[in-house]
Amino acid sequence: MSNGTAGFMNGPTPIDAAPRLAVDLGLDADDLLVKRDDLMGLGGGGNKVRKLQVTMGQALDAAADVVVTTGAAQSNHARLTAAAGARVGLPVVLVLQGHAPETERGNVLLDRLFGAEIIWSGRRPPEAVADEVEHDRSRGRVHRIPFGGSSPASAEAYVRAGQEVLDQVPDVRHVVVAVGSGGTMAGLVTALGAERVLGVDTGAVPDARRTVHALMEGMRSGTQGAADSLRIDGGQVGQGYEHLAESTRAALSRAARTEGLILDPTYSGRAMAGLVSAVASGGIRPGDRTVFLHTGGLPGLFGHEAF
Ligand SMILES: *Cc1c(COP(=O)(O)O)cnc(C)c1O
Repeated sequence: MSNGTAGFMNGPTPIDAAPRLAVDLGLDADDLLVKRDDLMGLGGGGNKVRKLQVTMGQALDAAADVVVTTGAAQSNHARLTAAAGARVGLPVVLVLQGHAPETERGNVLLDRLFGAEIIWSGRRPPEAVADEVEHDRSRGRVHRIPFGGSSPASAEAYVRAGQEVLDQVPDVRHVVVAVGSGGTMAGLVTALGAERVLGVDTGAVPDARRTVHALMEGMRSGTQGAADSLRIDGGQVGQGYEHLAESTRAALSRAARTEGLILDPTYSGRAMAGLVSAVASGGIRPGDRTVFLHTGGLPGLFGHEAF
């Protein structure tokens, strides 16, 4: 890993007890722990920081002049790529889906603050617009970071996070996590085994199971079993990625009112709704040590139309 990226994180992320939320969900008070990947040194924090240690390291190793990546308008990955670029002194181009909003809020406001160049893709797929940026020779050496920052190499960062969980909570039975571009779950499953990781689909990709499994197959840590063995809750997508589902709203409110814990409407709120549902269905039972991975996303709360 390049030395330039070592400062993105400030050590292992904390684990917090969440006894009032545990009891509210129907678990025993000491069953539930929250791993705070929302609390990291860079750019407001979140799970993308771990992946960026790898992907920005690759950009530096390639002696890139500029980095380009894509995302939804309120992409946390885009925001953190902008912050990481600022930290290492590399210009960042963000190709964001759709049209420029009237008011730049939430993550877009931060993208701007970190000095990124924003290109709105309009009606075109962001990936096609990013292809053009990548091949624009006038920009010098352009390094592409994939959607959501997920690649087999960057998913290795979440193998290390899974090992952190094992150090902090040796008797962990379940880790609950939102699935977007899939790298986070792929790394956790590689570290912890498929049976201990419950991924909650957010609708960011057409087929979360295939996406996660394909990343695992490319990882040098090796794959752990078949795609069928992955535990994925597909029931929290609602009307789609950018829409606020009622179950998510309820989960956000429960975490906030029992623990003063802020979740986001796209990812961590859905993951919490998945945990609620798993307890209701008996997939997670009282006495099961459960780690909820808080992946960040707070700025998205201030950029979401429903808030
Ligand atoms: C991107 C993101 C996720 C999903 O992580 P992937 O590795 O893309 O699956 C979860 N939570 C938040 C807040 C995110 O920004």
